[in-house]
Amino acid sequence: MTAARPASLAASDLTIQTARAATLDDSRDKWRSGSRKNALDSSLRVNWRTTGDYSNGNMDTLPTDLQRLAAALDYAARRHRNQRRKNEEQDPYINHPISLLHVLAVEAHITDADVLCAALLHDVIEDCARNPEERLELAAEIERRFGARVLHIVEEVTDDKTISKADRKRAQVEHAKHLTHAAKLVKLADKTVNLRDVVHSPPAGWPLRRRREYFDWANEVVQAIGPAHARLRSLFDEAFAARP
Ligand code: ZN
Repeated sequence: MTAARPASLAASDLTIQTARAATLDDSRDKWRSGSRKNALDSSLRVNWRTTGDYSNGNMDTLPTDLQRLAAALDYAARRHRNQRRKNEEQDPYINHPISLLHVLAVEAHITDADVLCAALLHDVIEDCARNPEERLELAAEIERRFGARVLHIVEEVTDDKTISKADRKRAQVEHAKHLTHAAKLVKLADKTVNLRDVVHSPPAGWPLRRRREYFDWANEVVQAIGPAHARLRSLFDEAFAARP
């Protein structure tokens, strides 16, 4: 199946590419202290099918939304394949992005494929890049495979790991109201899923106080996001009502 590329896309691509150039410069600065250890796992690239590749230059053969979503799920699963969640059972990490997809698509009826792809990919740069070069490589790969808007959303919800954890938490609250609408949706789903996890399958060794603090911080972020999406917000509020 083929999808015609909307005429308006070319102009907006240029705008987004300009914005991306700025983002890359920012992240280079942020990561100036990092050093390259190992190259990213190149086997991922060798076996990769080009269904989701935006760089093929053929305007008439962009993948369908469903193909892109499947490719994003496959890509995220490969990138996170050696990572585990912090709960007692050490769930496979990929369960987390899949939970975001469920909240957005199934529970909140959101159909914007860029938002859904970004939800699946939202932790790839933050959790899989070990240095600034890898961060840039992953960003370029996500843009090539899934498009500039998906990358932009992912970067908006990616924490700056060069600052302390406390500063990152503060930064999330401060940046929340400046996020694009699409990034707000991903952020709302992320916080909802995390609260559910803290109640039903908390990180190992988290005492009551830490679980409560997490709830209160997540609530601060969501209050700062504001009224972005009524259904998503009520899903968050339901999750928050279970505060331990
Ligand atoms: Zn997350």
